[in-house]
Amino acid sequence: MGWDAGPWPVSDGLHAVAGRWTAALTAGTRDHAVPMSADQTRLLLTELAGAFEAAAHTPEPTDRVAELGAELARSHFVGSEVLGRSIAVLGAHFGATGAIPSDRLTEMLGAFANGYVQTFRGWLLAEQARLRAAEIAVRRGVEQQLNYRAHHDQLTGLPNRSRFIDALSAAFADATADFGLCYVDLDHFKIVNDTYGHATGDALLVQAAARLSACATRPGQLVARMGGDEFVILVPQHSGGFAAAELAQTVLDAFARPFDIHGQQPSVTASIGVMAGRTDHSSAEELLQATDTTMHWAKAAGRGRYAVFDAERGRRELTRTELSAAMPAALARGELFLDYQPIVTLADQRMVAVEALVRWRHPDLGVLTPAHFVDLAEDNGHIGALGALVLERACHTSREWHDRYPDDAPTVSVNVSAAEVADPTWLDRVRHVIADTGIPPDSLQLELTERAFMQTSGRPLEALHTLAALGVRIAIDDFGTGYSNLAYLSQLPLDVIKLAGPFIHRLRNPDDNSPADVLVLESIIELSHALDFTVTAECVETRYQADRLHDLGCDTAQGWLFHRPMPADRVTDLLASRSPTPPQHTVRSGATPPSR
Ligand code: C2E
Ligand code: MG
Ligand code: MG
Repeated sequence: MGWDAGPWPVSDGLHAVAGRWTAALTAGTRDHAVPMSADQTRLLLTELAGAFEAAAHTPEPTDRVAELGAELARSHFVGSEVLGRSIAVLGAHFGATGAIPSDRLTEMLGAFANGYVQTFRGWLLAEQARLRAAEIAVRRGVEQQLNYRAHHDQLTGLPNRSRFIDALSAAFADATADFGLCYVDLDHFKIVNDTYGHATGDALLVQAAARLSACATRPGQLVARMGGDEFVILVPQHSGGFAAAELAQTVLDAFARPFDIHGQQPSVTASIGVMAGRTDHSSAEELLQATDTTMHWAKAAGRGRYAVFDAERGRRELTRTELSAAMPAALARGELFLDYQPIVTLADQRMVAVEALVRWRHPDLGVLTPAHFVDLAEDNGHIGALGALVLERACHTSREWHDRYPDDAPTVSVNVSAAEVADPTWLDRVRHVIADTGIPPDSLQLELTERAFMQTSGRPLEALHTLAALGVRIAIDDFGTGYSNLAYLSQLPLDVIKLAGPFIHRLRNPDDNSPADVLVLESIIELSHALDFTVTAECVETRYQADRLHDLGCDTAQGWLFHRPMPADRVTDLLASRSPTPPQHTVRSGATPPSR
């Protein structure tokens, strides 16, 4: 304690005790603040000392005295030593004067201490709460500040990428929310930067942001800067209301006026990707990515315009890397399946064969055609697994057709890549599948493109010869797209020439086929027959094509005129529905069966 009550003079009156009390609370080292001046303190303590003495002469002094202790605390004399020093002064004074009997004095000092402590505790709690509230308020202030900085772009003041993703994710998560997106990118912004300097570039971005904000003033529309010269707008689409494409046009119109920056008038257009609705994307990020891609379509189409997302185009342009990475799991999970496209005789349109065409039912992208992934599988080394799967599936299906329609089962034609044939284990695998399913070898046909044949020589070519000797039919696919000549073809173990789609396309209608084209076709067919090949035309879409090809001696045909590719079950239905006519294994009408 930094203060001592000392010896107490008996004759001291109230003023003296107030003086000593004041000194006790204000003198020496202390841990409490004195909330008032020395005079005010003395006045207060004189009053309290007087009331203390007066209370002693009432029948029940404790309540009154407790109130005096409380008053001291309420007057902000708070700190760990205030009570001790006060009790010491009061005890010494009234003990020495004998004005209050000693047992009553003890009782009263206790009541004084109680009153003080209770009020002090209440004050302490209130003070702690006040400090906490103040601290929270300060922290919140720093946070509202940091939050604003974290969610807004410094230059334009627009919401930034992270704020936008939050809003888009929330909209995406709400299944009832219908919305679109506009992804806006300034055209040739780099040139503005390079020509006029970065300060002008920045000023342009600020003005562009202002124009965008002025275009998107409807409720719920949100403009954000994604970075650089890229902006994005979230467009809630109310039923029959404002659509994203309309907003894109409004933005293009707004950009038609030249800008005015530091006396320069740069003309800047924008390219916009429009996503009209959430389409079938599975996340907000994916949706945004697709809108960005769509913006690049607008750039590619000449800039200063908008392009609307098209799922089919999106699918085509998906990065090869993603598909490549997903391929092993797709093979393991059975996402690949086969459709079969009938091949019919041109003489009487009988289905004599089917071509197995692989498809990938991608969980996000829907059904992908082989153009999306076969050459990818060739590049990434998965073609062996893919080919094995196709061959096994096709041969097992062939087995079922043989079991149910022994006289009518179509030849099953399977596409094979050069890379597969080059694999030393391939020959054994094919032989194994044939033996395993027990299908007649000549009901299996293998198609290699002209290009694939050109890459096949030496041991792989021997493998094809071996299979041909076994009875397996070998076809050259897409013939006419490469550079092979018929003399070279005679070296190959071939049974069938499949004329490529572009060849057949030239015969689409009577008005636009050139006599030269017809002559070339006629020669190929004639020479093929001379070499004992069967000729199949691909991509036959019109009756005129079918008739002309029949006139030219073409044997069989495949194409939308007859059948689209279909699931195995539908081929089974075709087999079931057709009239019981004798099975036809020779596909070339009126000609001898092809021999080697
Ligand atoms: P391809 O062997 O020339 O197969 C014919 C393609 O033409 C098929 O396309 C078929 O759907 C399409 N087509 C059929 N009729 C018509 C028509 O009338 N008009 C038009 N415009 N097109 C028609 P798809 O299924 O997309 O197959 C493309 C290519 O993918 C195939 O061409 C083949 O080279 C390759 N392919 C398909 N399945 C496999 C496979 O299992 N393994 C390998 N290695 N390649 C395959
Ligand atoms: Mg083919
Ligand atoms: Mg083909």
